Amino acid sequence: MTDLQSMIRSLLRPEVLALSAYHVPDSSGYVKLDAMENPYSWPDDMVDEWLARLREARPNRYPDPSCGRLKARLREAYGVPEAAGLLMGNGSDEIIQIILMALKGRDATVLAPEPTFVMYRQIASSLGLEFIGVPLRGEDFALDMPAMRAMIETHRPAVIFLAYPNNPTGNLFDSEDIAEILRIAPGLVVVDEAYTAYAGRSFMPRLAEFDNLLVMRTLSKLGLAGLRLGFMAGAKAWIDEFDKIRLPYNINTLTQISTEFALEKRKVLESQVESILRDRQHLYEELARLPGVHVYRSDANFILFRLLRHDADHVFRKLKDAGILIKNLHSSGGRLAGCLRVTVGTPEENQRFLTALAETLAS
Ligand SMILES: *Cc1c(COP(=O)(O)O)cnc(C)c1O
Repeated sequence: MTDLQSMIRSLLRPEVLALSAYHVPDSSGYVKLDAMENPYSWPDDMVDEWLARLREARPNRYPDPSCGRLKARLREAYGVPEAAGLLMGNGSDEIIQIILMALKGRDATVLAPEPTFVMYRQIASSLGLEFIGVPLRGEDFALDMPAMRAMIETHRPAVIFLAYPNNPTGNLFDSEDIAEILRIAPGLVVVDEAYTAYAGRSFMPRLAEFDNLLVMRTLSKLGLAGLRLGFMAGAKAWIDEFDKIRLPYNINTLTQISTEFALEKRKVLESQVESILRDRQHLYEELARLPGVHVYRSDANFILFRLLRHDADHVFRKLKDAGILIKNLHSSGGRLAGCLRVTVGTPEENQRFLTALAETLAS
């Protein structure tokens, strides 16, 4: 071992050394259907208006640390109950990190059904927290409630994450099951509503019912992935504590101005969402017609499908060779063996994907 290596090992926590970095593949030049982005940009006149608005930005000054104006806009746009507090994050990824950093002791446990969004496990591990994954039901990816009850009872998790709809499976868990988890959980329950624009269901209106409910949102999947803005609503007493460890200027000036602007122009984003929902239906029907493909219903802007007769790694590589980047979940194994995930793109992108997939399956 070099001196440098031994110095790294002696200074860093073993859980950091044990992590593998979150890998984002280089997507330049590809039809990019791997990351649940909204494929549409803004109309030209809206871009002009946005750039004019950015003139008020003062890069020499720090941003508004409390995001006052933006918070007011978010409350109004997303029906955040007046009594609830609001925590702002540089993406909702950062909010997950803030919640977990605040937990008491190294023995706190984090629980989530799996397969789910990988950052829950990744961030918990990076902080040395125990992470318990409870397998979803194999046939439909619903919550396995007997298993959830047992694991909650045994492990007494400080935080439970429920992605609603779930990524990468695309389904909404039963809302009665979530309400039961909120009642029996000894700690916090974070309902992660990253895809709410495509699902039309939310626990936001139920915040007053549960002291331990936190509702997390992001604007990434709606169409602002490049701005990095997430937020979380919950009882003020919780939010005030988490806000203490949020870095004061985590939401930069350009993001604040641009997000306020985009929320004013919400109708444009909403009509993009409508197109994506129509195209999701079309993509679902076309995938379902392909031989050897099992396709799962989705309440999000992506579709999970399973290859019943073909090697998923091979199909993934063939699509990539054809210039189309989707997400290979086969490698994560378990319940996702044979599974690939495709984001709903523009009609042309979806067609290119379908054509390339059909050709690969037929060859
Ligand atoms: C994409 C995603 C996020 C993270 O979103 P950012 O705000 O871009 O960090 C959080 N939760 C789920 C379930 C996601 O799929």
